[in-house]
Amino acid sequence: MPVEPIPILPEELTLQYIAEGAANVIWRISLPQAAIPPSTLKEEYSKSTPPPSEIDPDVGVIDNSDNGNPQTALGYGEVLLRLRKCLPSSESNLLAYEYLSTVIMPLFPPGVMVGQTLVKLPQELVSRANDVLHSLEETNARPIHRRHLYLAGDPRPSEQQMEEKYAFLVEDMTPDISRGEFLIEFKAKWLTQSPNAPADWRRCRTCALRLKKHSEALRKGKTVEWRGLCPFDLVSQDQKRNANAVKRILKHPRNEDENLVTRVTKALINGPQLSILRELQASLDPNGILKADHTSKEFLTAMTLRDCTFFVKVSPTDIQARLGDFDVKSGDGGKSDYWVKLETELIEDGWYSGTEKGDFPWNAEGLQVVCKL
Ligand SMILES: [Zn+2]
Repeated sequence: MPVEPIPILPEELTLQYIAEGAANVIWRISLPQAAIPPSTLKEEYSKSTPPPSEIDPDVGVIDNSDNGNPQTALGYGEVLLRLRKCLPSSESNLLAYEYLSTVIMPLFPPGVMVGQTLVKLPQELVSRANDVLHSLEETNARPIHRRHLYLAGDPRPSEQQMEEKYAFLVEDMTPDISRGEFLIEFKAKWLTQSPNAPADWRRCRTCALRLKKHSEALRKGKTVEWRGLCPFDLVSQDQKRNANAVKRILKHPRNEDENLVTRVTKALINGPQLSILRELQASLDPNGILKADHTSKEFLTAMTLRDCTFFVKVSPTDIQARLGDFDVKSGDGGKSDYWVKLETELIEDGWYSGTEKGDFPWNAEGLQVVCKL
């Protein structure tokens, strides 16, 4: 259980549907002007957080700063509300927060992760949100493949009943397109070599796996782009390699804008995320998949950190990078065996050493994929 008191959201919040994934629906929230208690008005923006936009008279604040984690002290104008769907396979928001707050958040200083805080739901809010989903369906405004699954925590009797007393407030990384902003998402993956890679390795874990997967796709007759981001380029001391990695992340046509490439490269290289991730991946899993205890918290955390996502909001004047998608990893359900099998194949079939059998495009002169630390 989180030790700090969990704030309760005001019942009178207005909700605006923004987007949804398989397990959650994201809402923009605001307080009606009259409902803002003056004593809670507060402005708290980090250096890298852009000033509030014009929609922002609603700076009612959930102030969690007592918990020593200022990144959770956010105003409604800067956060989105994430409500969980009735998906039996998903874990409760309380459990998800318990994992985040005890395992992941202590690893990072404020401002490195996408800010997230747990809030208690007022009684009627989920029912109102579900009513919005129903009316969006009636007007064909809800994506077809998302229909007929509603939010957990609605106390009204219905076919979908699942208890959920909590929700997340998440830092709003939505780009304002009218101000020339855009969002880049990418995974930096394995920023250090797998401790189990052979001594004569020529490829990093990420490039080795990418080529192996693409060889399987090629065998099935699929055309695939086999070139990709090498994480070692991102953390190298070589500016040209840094910029090449960023070009892969930006993709065409943005990667042709030299000024943009330079700005994003500087922001990522000078930012804290990459070096923290690299150090943690190395220190939490010194033995590698083949020798690690797959039930150890450290190893599983290293696997989570190898799969988290960078969210980079680029505006004409500012670049804001945050880490998110810290999913709990577990070796259960055959996953542990899968990790071992995959690592063994990467080693034995020559994906690390670049001696894999087969006539692949990356075996042609000048196209070899070779990674350097
Ligand atoms: Zn590589």
